[in-house]
Amino acid sequence: MKWKQQLDGMQAYKPGKPIEEVQREFGLQEVVKLASNENPFGCSPKVTAYLQDNAVNHAIYPDGYAQNLRTAVANYLGVKETQLLFGNGSDDIITILTRALLYPGVNTIMADPSFSQYWHNADIEGAEVRKIPCINGAHDLNAMAAAIDDKTSIVWVCSPNNPTGVVIADNDLRAFLAKVPSDVLVVLDEAYIEYVTHPEHKNTLPLIEEYPNVLLMRTFSKAYGLASFRVGYAIGQPEVIAKLDPVRAPFNNTILSQTVAAIALSDQDYLQACCEANEKGKKQYVEFCEKHNLTYYPSDTNFIFLNTNADSDIVFHELMKRGFIIRSGNALGTPGFIRVTIGTEAQNEALLGHLETVLKEQGVFA
Ligand SMILES: *Cc1c(COP(=O)(O)O)cnc(C)c1O
Repeated sequence: MKWKQQLDGMQAYKPGKPIEEVQREFGLQEVVKLASNENPFGCSPKVTAYLQDNAVNHAIYPDGYAQNLRTAVANYLGVKETQLLFGNGSDDIITILTRALLYPGVNTIMADPSFSQYWHNADIEGAEVRKIPCINGAHDLNAMAAAIDDKTSIVWVCSPNNPTGVVIADNDLRAFLAKVPSDVLVVLDEAYIEYVTHPEHKNTLPLIEEYPNVLLMRTFSKAYGLASFRVGYAIGQPEVIAKLDPVRAPFNNTILSQTVAAIALSDQDYLQACCEANEKGKKQYVEFCEKHNLTYYPSDTNFIFLNTNADSDIVFHELMKRGFIIRSGNALGTPGFIRVTIGTEAQNEALLGHLETVLKEQGVFA
């Protein structure tokens, strides 16, 4: 068949091993997954209550324009409804963007390591991918700006960055944006924005007014605890959104997902409680790293990226045997490092106990 040449040798996204598989493989009763940065506390109890009490007519197509959710998000953010584009997760937004803006002959710039879907989708579209190495987990924005030429179409800026957890300070971001030509789209992926506590991070919404080539991307999958519902969205100038909208599949969110996202958005108290618990959990990991002299990057997310000083595939495997699924840095192009989602206090304590044992076994410390 006449496949796109770019698909030669391409692999599907490898998600973390499912809990059931690990249970079977290692004969474990309980397995904790701290590999994909989901909210360990789950979604708002208001969502759970809704799901128990409301029957939805699933024979009817959902509202393709997601009007109710659109109004809720627009009001919450203080933007116009025409400034929003909804996706089946922000993964879908990334696909829409690459379909709309990338093709053979143009290039796209991103940090390394960063979120794999940027380059994966760029590869499928046949665009040139320019990966700019991070410095201590932070985007090298100067080098990224310097890599832009007249064939650059999209620059991806992930803040806070997955997998490193590092957020970009407001002045650094602004200095970068001032250097980017106005015909280059800057996608600011803010999948973890709700967790940010860094004092030099400021509200990014005004950037859309100042730089019409900026598009923000957010999701209900992480802090809002709705990963399985697949709701993400972009915020940008109405003109940018209007260009992207025809590329979107007509019914790319379900009725149920639109409804529960709006309910979750309305429960900011719950969100805040989760973020506070996350801060406490983060301290457990930071203390562990300090105690054992392990390098870690300052995280403004619900995960931590740390250097085990051991083979991270072995660490990954040893933790899995003990009932904890995490991410090995080998899979992310950063050997030695592991990425761990911050769980509940008890989960963190248990995981760190096992990690201590494993790293002792590996001779990292006595
Ligand atoms: C999880 C994640 C996404 C994808 O989120 P969905 O809305 O579930 O598709 C996008 N970007 C980053 C950086 C993420 O970590």
